Amino acid sequence: MTRLKYIDEFRNPEVAKHLLVEIKAISKTPIRLMEVCGTHTMSIGRYGLRTLLPSHIKLISGPGCPVCVTSAKDIDKMIKLASYDVIVTTFGDLMRVPGSRSSLQKERANGADVRVVYSPFDALEIAKKNPNKPVVFLGVGFETTAPGIAATVMAAKEQGIKNFFIFSAHKVTPPVMEALISSPDLKIDGFICPGHVSVIVGLKPYERLVEKYHVPCVVTGFEPVDILQGILMLVKQIEKHSPKAEIQYTRAVKPEGNPKAMELMFKVFEPVDATWRGIGVIPKSGLALKEEYAAHDASKVFDIEVGEAKEPPGCRCGDILKGLITPPECPLFGKICTPAHPVGPCMVSAEGSCAAYYKYRDWEGING
Ligand code: SF4
Repeated sequence: MTRLKYIDEFRNPEVAKHLLVEIKAISKTPIRLMEVCGTHTMSIGRYGLRTLLPSHIKLISGPGCPVCVTSAKDIDKMIKLASYDVIVTTFGDLMRVPGSRSSLQKERANGADVRVVYSPFDALEIAKKNPNKPVVFLGVGFETTAPGIAATVMAAKEQGIKNFFIFSAHKVTPPVMEALISSPDLKIDGFICPGHVSVIVGLKPYERLVEKYHVPCVVTGFEPVDILQGILMLVKQIEKHSPKAEIQYTRAVKPEGNPKAMELMFKVFEPVDATWRGIGVIPKSGLALKEEYAAHDASKVFDIEVGEAKEPPGCRCGDILKGLITPPECPLFGKICTPAHPVGPCMVSAEGSCAAYYKYRDWEGING
């Protein structure tokens, strides 16, 4: 395989054409490949890759958008937190995600102090400047964001910032991949594994999946040539009946991942069972603050009990996150539900499948 070095080469149409010719020549078996990461879903749409592949290779989006997989109940708890006399800080994508009855954006319009930040350290700064007010950071994301949040909690503890709290809805990726591959409802022939998450976790979790489920896994980058190379590597494995865990994204991902980041993450967090929207409870798939950081744990300090959560009526986000349907198969897609008036989280988030399908419309005529 051609060894590419510079970023422009990963967008080179000639290299992409060459890869497509190779994929078409090798691929005989009808296959379904799941891209686990929302950034892959966006790139696939942006570069129209779905339309370029042979029709028997189907790309299905998985549960890789952190905002989308946050359960409606966790969103309700965040909204309850905003109802107290606190400053709630969050990444922007969460603002418009609907809970059972409201959203953080609506609560802010009604007077709640909800602020968008670009890093948990911004939230810590807000806490330092407002020592008499509790400041809660809403922690949503995968292994990519959790180490940074762990570092922030450690800094708050070391510096004695007692008014800084985290509400952790963090999730880890390998358990959800295992839940999907072992589901009888879903056929997955290979995983396009998440590039960013793999920078942290490395190859080991996928090696376990290959060993147990014989499913090919290729850690893939986000440029069009990356994705086509990743698909070619998967196709070769599938045609040879030789499943492996491999890295296409070698310029960023090492087999061992980033052990320091993992160590930092597990100094502060511990694995807990977590509820994924549409998928349900997956054992040890979430991250909660360890007991020694309990004083910074919003779920222990505030009453965040909420009633039964409701999904937005008619929304099929759950089935989309499980790879059971594509966004255009949701009856509300593009009619009632659009990025301007989103019904569910998959249309709200910049990494959501529905938003990607709506924006790029590369599925028209090929996927239904
Ligand atoms: S199109 Fe809208 S309503 Fe349908 S699944 Fe996507 S987000 Fe939910």
